[in-house]
Amino acid sequence: MHDFTDTNVLITGGTRGIGRSMVQAFAEAGANVAFTFRSSTDEAEALKKQLSNAGTEVLAFQGDAAQMEAAEEAIGGVVDAWGSLDVLINNAGITKDGLMLRMSEDDWDAVINVNLKSVFNFAKASYRQFMRQRGGVMLNMSSVVGVMGNPGQTNYAASKAGIIGFSKSLAKELGGRGVRVNVIAPGYVATEMTEELSDKARDAMLDAIPLGRPAEPEDVAQAALFLASPAAAYITGHVLHVDGGLAM
Ligand code: NAP
Repeated sequence: MHDFTDTNVLITGGTRGIGRSMVQAFAEAGANVAFTFRSSTDEAEALKKQLSNAGTEVLAFQGDAAQMEAAEEAIGGVVDAWGSLDVLINNAGITKDGLMLRMSEDDWDAVINVNLKSVFNFAKASYRQFMRQRGGVMLNMSSVVGVMGNPGQTNYAASKAGIIGFSKSLAKELGGRGVRVNVIAPGYVATEMTEELSDKARDAMLDAIPLGRPAEPEDVAQAALFLASPAAAYITGHVLHVDGGLAM
């Protein structure tokens, strides 16, 4: 595994699920780790304590990733404290599922704002810093649903497909500055987000996964470590499917 000592990493939505697993994986690999969250204050405090007890430099920022101010505060906080931002992982996300017929405008707006606008916010707030550094890595969390679609998830699918187009465009803008932008598209990952799935939906999903099991958050964290490392130095604008073969 690559050693991330002296590497400054910021992960949005770091208190639970995939984000938390990435926070832990980068910390174990030696990185200084900052994370954001919106409402899970207790989990954030506990995680911060656990990491600093283990000797990790850690920062936590509370704020709604859908708001530009939250992005500016977190990016500015990392750069002020540590001098650079080496890896930005836009992971914060929500679902508000429902068939189109019943989907409210509020549910559409909330999902687009938290999942897609947040990526714009954090990319915008870090753009100049990445340009100045002439280096850095951005990873944006999409989903198999953004690639394949899913009934009842038009808002979520639109946000996750949007992330792919956004990231490819940004990879083309920033490539000349040595900044890599990639996308991770997980399949079905066992987290609180997927706990709400019905048994029927879960069984159907499992039947369609060639590897025959859901991902653990660590499976996604390992992909993030790889894409953030020099082992992936020639990879940009890529969508890495971490889905057990679901989206073939
Ligand atoms: P999760 O367990 O629900 O955790 C979501 C994290 O995001 C929490 O730390 C949450 O913190 C934070 N968050 C939510 N809204 C936020 C906001 N507005 N501002 C700041 N932080 C916010 O989700 P997960 O399953 O780990 O999913 C993580 C990412 O992977 C998401 O983008 C999701 O769409 C994507 N993904 C998940 C799956 C899956 O099967 N689980 C599959 C494909 C893609 P608070 O509780 O404090 O808000």
